[in-house]
Parts: sequence; C-alpha cells; structure tokens
Amino acid sequence: MGTRISRVHGRMVLDSRGNPTVEVDCVTEDGTLGRAMVPSGASTGRHEAVELRDGGDRWAGKGVDQAVANVNGPIADALVGMDASNQGVIDAAMMALDSTPNKGEIGANAMLGASMACLRATVGTGEIWQHLSDGSASIPVPLMNILNGGAHANSNVDVQEFMVVPHGFDSYPEALRAGTEIYHSLRAVLKDAGLLGGVGDEGGFAPNLPRNEEGLRYVVEAITSAGYTPGEQVSIALDVASQEFLHDDGYHIDGKVISGSELGQLYSSWLDEYPIVSIEDPFGEDDWDSWVEFTQREGHRVQVVGDDLYVTNPERLAHGIEIGASNAILIKLNQIGTVTETLVVIAMAKAAGFGTIISHRSGETADSIISDIAVGTDAGQIKTGAPARSDRTAKYNQLLRISENYNQYADMF
Ligand code: PGA
Ligand code: ZN
Repeated sequence: MGTRISRVHGRMVLDSRGNPTVEVDCVTEDGTLGRAMVPSGASTGRHEAVELRDGGDRWAGKGVDQAVANVNGPIADALVGMDASNQGVIDAAMMALDSTPNKGEIGANAMLGASMACLRATVGTGEIWQHLSDGSASIPVPLMNILNGGAHANSNVDVQEFMVVPHGFDSYPEALRAGTEIYHSLRAVLKDAGLLGGVGDEGGFAPNLPRNEEGLRYVVEAITSAGYTPGEQVSIALDVASQEFLHDDGYHIDGKVISGSELGQLYSSWLDEYPIVSIEDPFGEDDWDSWVEFTQREGHRVQVVGDDLYVTNPERLAHGIEIGASNAILIKLNQIGTVTETLVVIAMAKAAGFGTIISHRSGETADSIISDIAVGTDAGQIKTGAPARSDRTAKYNQLLRISENYNQYADMF
C-alpha cells in the first residue's frame, strides 16, 4: 500500500525564539515525505500536555534530545508499517506508548511532530485543508496581534495581545491588506508618540504604556489613520492571558490588585468604549466563577475565549460548556498533542455553538499547518501574530495560496 509508513525520523531544529524544538519526517513506501515542526508557548497553561525538555545546562535546559529520541525510538517502532492515512489509529498507537494522563513520558512535542508529519505524508502533494474538510470550509478571519505585552514583551503592559480583526471584508486578501496596513500605521502612530521600540515575540510592537487602556486607544488610532472604520470593517480582540498576573492576593493590573469581579467590570467599561469583539483568557485558568459571571453578563456582546482555561482538552472544554464559562475556545495542537484529539475538541466546541480560533504559539516555526487546519475544519478564525516575520507570515501566506482557489471568507458574526 502506497501510504504505508516506511520511516519516521525526528531531529532538533530551532524555533523563532532560538530554542530547540522537534521536527519529524514521515516517509511512506511510495517515497512521499511528510515533514512537520512543533511550536512552543511562553504563557503556557498549567493543564497543558507536557512539552518534554531535557533540563540541565545545555540549551539553558530547553534541549529536546529526549523528545527526539522518543520519536526515533518508541514512536518509530510503533508507526513503521502502519497506514499513514489512518490518523486515528496512528495517534492512538502513540498515546498507548505513554502511561501518564498528560503525555509526560513520550512528550506532546514528540507525538505532535509525528502526528502532523503523518498527516502531511498522507496528503502528499494534495491539499491538507481539503483532506480534512467534511464538505464545509472557509478562509478564517485573522486575529492579528499588532501590539505585544505580557510574557511576550519586555514592557510594562499587562495585556499580552492587542489584535486587529478585519471582519468587514468580502475576501481574505482584502482583509489581510487592511490588517497589514494597520500594522504599519500603528508603527507610525507609536513613532509620533515617541513610543516606538522593538517588537515582541509575535512580531507586534511592544511599547511601554501608562495604562493598558492606552493600548486600545493607539490601536483605534491606527485603524482610523489607515483609513478603515473601527467596529464596521476592523474590530479589536484582546488576549489578556491574565493567569500571568494572577497572584495569591488577586489580579495585578495597571499597578493595582483587584478581584475577578472587579477585573470583569474593567473589561465591561472597555467594551462600552472600544470596538472589542473578542477577549481571551480574561480570568485565570482555574477561576471558573469569574468566567461564568462575566460570560453571563457580557457573552451576548463579546466573544469570551478560553485558552489557558481549556488547553484544547476535551474534559476541561466539557466542563466549560456545561457551566457556561465562555462561548469560544482557542485551539492549539501542542496543548493536547495529536491531530486526532485536536479535531475532536474542535468538533465538540462547534457542536456546543462555541466559536473556534486555531492558534499559533509565541515560539513558532515556518510550519503553516494551522492555516490548513483552520480552513479545513471551517473554524472561522485564526490567530497567528503580526503580519511580520516569516514565522507569522508563513501562516498568512498559506491562506493567500488557498484563497486563490477557494475564496470563501468566513463570516465571524
Ligand atoms: P503562548 O501565547 O504561545 O506563549 O502560550 C499565545 C497565547 O497565549 O495565546
Ligand atoms: Zn492566549
């Protein structure tokens, strides 16, 4: 059979932050090569599957020699001879190698590299998005992170990501152009204000600001000065990543310490003032009560997105659906560790009427598989950083290629 796996080979490569990560080659008997690289987060959720790192002195503890050895040892032993097109069986075989609940022995980085490489080998020269599609598909609306703070920047801004959302366009190329023009316009706006410094890990500008709300003001100014209408054509999405500033005594934001309820009130005041359509991780990863309170009050007018809250995990998502903790989920393949489990979580979220956003990590590679996954699952939204630096533009550019033949731009609302 042509798609029978003849070789699985892992190696260490570098990610966009200069840290080691896993790359896997999967070769089938007809000679087809599928290759995939695994991303890595900085503001990781406590409940994520384990990213296996070597520790010790080499690579500041971030080596992936053990994960690579797991690909070349137990994973290769299990997968060689299997049919690459049977993704569910392949992923189950890898999961069976690990006796922990969070892939702590084999490593989610090792498993995901092999899982994605097998998907690529199966599809060969075809289109991954078409292979994944059950008939419906769309080019996702991009959530473009143009102002970076939090753990992704060396600044005093607590909110991790200020994104622009170009939803009011007929086609993806037009939307991408708007978001990119706004990115350049933000550069000019910050330069005028004497605030232009470097960029953060995801390519967005990373100014110091007196208050988080100033970030919203500058983004609106950038939208307007690029010639677009805030709210109608282009809106704002935030990833607060609030777990990063949640301490024992409460949420530390804008130099104050406040409760989850008070933080929710601050967001409500922002919703009154600014065209915000989406807020990710407004509360900590185990602060379920604040999530429910906020979603009940504001869920009708804003998308409330769980990232660290759900970590692409079906059990945590099921709980969130049951209690109404949010109305959307961020999907990151390496939080759960296989393609099959990721697709299950996307289907679960959709069945519950949740919004789905397929996401990169702050540590990325040139791999653009998330673009295909977003299109093929008809996810509706993708989050993949600023329209700058090749690790981010790889995803936007793959969507441009797909849109040449399939120009169906998702409707966000
Ligand atoms: P991470 O950030 O990849 O550092 O976790 C992205 C996000 O929080 O969505
Ligand atoms: Zn996040």
